[in-house]
Amino acid sequence: MKKKHLSIFLSRLEGFKNPKPELEQYRTPGDVAAELLWMAYSLGDIEGKAVADLGAGTGVLTVGACLLGARKVYAVEIDGEAVEILRRNVENAGTRNCVEVVHADVSSFNRRVDTVLMNPPFGSQRKHADRPFLMKAFEISDVVYSIHLDKPEVMAFIETFSKEFGFQVTHRVTTNFEIPAQFFFHKKPLKRIKTRLYRLERSFSKGI
Ligand code: SAH
Repeated sequence: MKKKHLSIFLSRLEGFKNPKPELEQYRTPGDVAAELLWMAYSLGDIEGKAVADLGAGTGVLTVGACLLGARKVYAVEIDGEAVEILRRNVENAGTRNCVEVVHADVSSFNRRVDTVLMNPPFGSQRKHADRPFLMKAFEISDVVYSIHLDKPEVMAFIETFSKEFGFQVTHRVTTNFEIPAQFFFHKKPLKRIKTRLYRLERSFSKGI
């Protein structure tokens, strides 16, 4: 499958019906998801791997990881309505055998995986909402892909926070991220923001 095909396929998946602002339910656009997944695939972090999608939402990253050959994807999502849509997307994409749906708070998920993929809440509604996601990711995996706002203070935070947990940023890519107007506080029909995709890896250099 080509990156472009992946992007189109993922953009056609069913989205949130009733997005909840407090959970920051922004679906990852197909092109951004494909960018993240392609990077992970090219670096050998998807094919044959056990993957966790933390805050899986409607399953864009989950389905994409399966299509690129993940052995297993744990799709962890707290919201029941999103889980229903995710299940349908997984079924329709023919990826049911690859996915285990975990309807729970990410903090209670405790399986070790090879790779974490996530588009966590950016923390624009609730400050620091991305922290439990990063902490869980650092706990269960040595390789983490995550999407955050492209702002200098966010970048500084990601670098310092990762370091505290023994991780380092190995890759960083800036992308445009289009959000259709979905919440009452969005005034424009389409909101364009800039995000950064990060690859974080446990640093084994210390103490060995
Ligand atoms: N990963 C999806 C959705 C991103 S939006 C995509 O790429 O399209 C962030 C998702 O995290 C939402 O679906 C929201 O319901 C979920 N979420 C927020 N807090 C959570 C928590 N504590 N535990 C599990 N999921 C959570």
